Amino acid sequence: MSTDRGTQTFQSAPPSGRLEGLPHTVSLKQGGGGRAMRALIEKLFVRDFAALPFDGVGVGAMDDGAAIRIGEEWLVITTDSHVIHPIVFPGGDIGKLSICGTVNDLAMMGATRVLGLTCSVILEEGFALESLEAIQRSMLAACIEANAPVITGDTKVMGRGEVDGVVINTCGIGLTRTLVRDNALRAGDRILVTGSIGEHGLAVMATRHGIEIDGELVSDVAPLNSLIETIVADVTAMKDPTRGGVASALHEMASKSNVGIVLDERAIPVLPPVRSVGELLGIDPLHVANEGKALIGVRAELAESVLARLRAHPLGRRAAIIGTCVAERPGSIILDTGFGRRLLAEPEGEPLPRIC
Ligand code: MG
Repeated sequence: MSTDRGTQTFQSAPPSGRLEGLPHTVSLKQGGGGRAMRALIEKLFVRDFAALPFDGVGVGAMDDGAAIRIGEEWLVITTDSHVIHPIVFPGGDIGKLSICGTVNDLAMMGATRVLGLTCSVILEEGFALESLEAIQRSMLAACIEANAPVITGDTKVMGRGEVDGVVINTCGIGLTRTLVRDNALRAGDRILVTGSIGEHGLAVMATRHGIEIDGELVSDVAPLNSLIETIVADVTAMKDPTRGGVASALHEMASKSNVGIVLDERAIPVLPPVRSVGELLGIDPLHVANEGKALIGVRAELAESVLARLRAHPLGRRAAIIGTCVAERPGSIILDTGFGRRLLAEPEGEPLPRIC
């Protein structure tokens, strides 16, 4: 394998100028779901692809997926590659994650009814078939839970050291009459979270570092489509706080919607083990990936009713109203600590690489 990866055949490509401000080679933080990743995607992919003729919600929207109008309904499409390390973690594994991640991105756009999923697997020579079978079983269980069939796929094998064990890409398609975007918050809307935050990222991190803690810390990975189905008609905007966590997702929603968001820090549900591992590692749970949570904007008069429906579902028992959209400071997240207010910084990238 070449040591100067990616440069072998493109040495003489003419400079386009659009790499200005970016580093010369790819860094891990550019996969982290924060500002660094967005800069890479916007400069390298979105600008040109978004200029191609397309009638619908496309790559330029940088939403959880794309949407194409089909008669009275919207066909929603999304794709996600899973490179998590380690591949087994408390509460799940790469198989469960690869189904839930895609089902949830569809649900965030209102497509709670999944038509089908694709599954593309890249394996390293020497990977244990027993592990692969365990991964397939997890995928199947998640498919059954989400009522989402895998309908086509692809398998490739690379040599030892050319890929780390297993990488899984899934793509999902769904149909919805109610298309939900991440850019439609309005001043006065309330912000809800469907449960306690930070569990996925900190459970993976605790496993990776062999940290022993009091209390159980497991990933929240779960398919959210049946939960979202109960409230989707009353939502103004929605996003799942995966890489970069709640802080990154809310910044994206606020800036796309041109509103500020005042967050009530004391209302944000955080479990004790998440708080202690976060403190131990110096990582704010607001900056950490979730894999079974949604951030939901609703009109103020619907907030209590939406909250009650969320809490009636097993995956929404700890749902809470955590903030309010304001016309002031568009794009900013203002954290109300109870003692004062401060701006919540947008993370440069998820503090933990290969988290999903
Ligand atoms: Mg998403």
